[in-house]
Amino acid sequence: MRLCRFNNDRFGLVSRDTVLDVTPAMSGLQARRYPFPEHDVLIESLPALRGAIETVAKTAPARALKDVSLLSPVANPGKVIAAPVNYLKHLAEAHADPEIHHQNEIHEIQRVGLFLKATSSVAGPGAPLVIRHPDRRTDHEIELAAVIGRRADRVTKQDALSHVAGYCIGFDITVRGPEERSLRKSADGYTVLGPWLVTADEIPNPSGLELHLAVNGETRQKANTKDLVIDVPSLIEWASSYYTLMPGDVILTGTPEGVGPIAPGDVLDATIETIGSMRVQVAKA
Ligand code: MN
Repeated sequence: MRLCRFNNDRFGLVSRDTVLDVTPAMSGLQARRYPFPEHDVLIESLPALRGAIETVAKTAPARALKDVSLLSPVANPGKVIAAPVNYLKHLAEAHADPEIHHQNEIHEIQRVGLFLKATSSVAGPGAPLVIRHPDRRTDHEIELAAVIGRRADRVTKQDALSHVAGYCIGFDITVRGPEERSLRKSADGYTVLGPWLVTADEIPNPSGLELHLAVNGETRQKANTKDLVIDVPSLIEWASSYYTLMPGDVILTGTPEGVGPIAPGDVLDATIETIGSMRVQVAKA
């Protein structure tokens, strides 16, 4: 299933170039009272809602994909976890680029560990990406994003993928500079998730997916998730050894080589095999 959120928090089932509005399928979600859960209750409930989604879809109004504004497929991630330098060629380019390397020591991922991005940085592809510090270099990073579907506490890599709800494209937008990653990558809108969630049953093996990112039609990043230094199951094992992963938690798996600056007016076109494509407009200042 390809599940999206669109317009004013509508819930959609994507079928080719249309979106079926299956919002009524969410009516089964339990009403929640304060204190609200710290995870995403829709993602948590997806296995139980599958039947309702299919039933509602049979008579759901259809909208053309091009006519809707896509939101992040995860509304309330409790954590956005990110893997730095998880492709060897990106590690090499970071070492070679003085603007990246001389302001931060870049080490291999095994030494750096994982970092967290503010959940308030999450946005969908329908919103323009607003550069917060136009005086500084801001880079694009395309990444495969895995969305956790059920509680994972100290799971093994053999068991890890059974905890994944699905996958989407992620942008880990980065301001270059000397500060901690968690600050430079947490500006509003700097975690773009989209265009929709492809449920994990359609991607039994997240290794071997082609990624492609073009800026203004020119290819910048082209790689394959088979080249991840630490693959998705091992990232889940590693992350869950520190903190319990909850439904809706997002793992950005790292960006390949080819990162580069973006500027207001640019158009980013991203594709990941089996997931789909999304276009994000960098807002004019
Ligand atoms: Mn990244």
